[in-house]
Amino acid sequence: MKALVWEGPFKMNIKEVEKPQPTKDEVLIRTKSVGICGSDLEIFRGDFVQAVPPLIPGHEACGIVEKVTEGVENVRPGDRVAVDPGIFCGKCEFCRKGAYWQCDHRGILGMQRYDGAYAEYFIVPHLSCFQLPQDIEWDQAALIDILADPLHAMDMIPLRIGETVAVFGPGPAGICFMQLAKIAGASTVILIGTREERLALGSKLGADITINITKENVIETVMQITNGRGVDIGIEASGSTQALAETLKVTRKQGRVMVFGIYSENASLDMQDMHRRELKIFGSSGCPWSMPRAIELISNKRVQVKPMISHRVNLEQLETLFTQGIMEERKQDYFKAVLLL
Ligand SMILES: [Zn+2]
Ligand SMILES: [Zn+2]
Repeated sequence: MKALVWEGPFKMNIKEVEKPQPTKDEVLIRTKSVGICGSDLEIFRGDFVQAVPPLIPGHEACGIVEKVTEGVENVRPGDRVAVDPGIFCGKCEFCRKGAYWQCDHRGILGMQRYDGAYAEYFIVPHLSCFQLPQDIEWDQAALIDILADPLHAMDMIPLRIGETVAVFGPGPAGICFMQLAKIAGASTVILIGTREERLALGSKLGADITINITKENVIETVMQITNGRGVDIGIEASGSTQALAETLKVTRKQGRVMVFGIYSENASLDMQDMHRRELKIFGSSGCPWSMPRAIELISNKRVQVKPMISHRVNLEQLETLFTQGIMEERKQDYFKAVLLL
């Protein structure tokens, strides 16, 4: 089969590779769509330390079940499925306590120890598959994972009806956070970023206020909006350590802060302020049991994901997104790409 293979920093090529064969409890899936993620760019650059070459990336994966192995009952050949990329052992302390996404032996489809879906076929454990309703098209399906992760994060910082929220980073995850905060009952959601087109899309999809930090002082502006109090919940989804420091500053006393971005450096934070104002800091990783809800929210049109898709590509075009810097430098108004096969 044809696959896009990462062979080390800045080396990504289409190759003919052996079609994988499922073993016990696994399912072979014919790829239909895959979301292209910022972390795939990190893999390409060699910055994602858990990824070891050669690796077929692609974790935001969907497709049609081609073959199941004995004992698999939740899916059958021909089923349309979306996949939770987190792969767990089921035996370690965290798996047995029900926190399987924190598995001691965790693998991630297309990122860590398991080949992913930048290929005509891929394999996953059957428990990673979730049925897709007919009304979700393949391009939308590729964005289920990018919604399911913020959904898990929202579970961890329960939002009370009427609270105020600031979301840093109007990328795909940030735009999902903004929409989820609105659904959860936030009174005001402030979306903060640097790119005007992304902020404009955020407004279109429901952000109450947007702040462009290249034009406005974000801390002053949020304080003005909240009458000097700060927001109840600050969400950092940009991956910028400076934005993280600002997220802490714009969150009220005893407020909650979600650290969601993927950071390539450590942040310098005002620890005394955190201590004095009793901020609560949350981390979040993966999408345990949030896939079915993400599927429902997209199916019921409560969350819009389609407007975020800027590129629909085949395998050859996907290669150029990486090798020609289209993703990295956000050429051609790059926002979110979907591989369609
Ligand atoms: Zn991703
Ligand atoms: Zn485990």
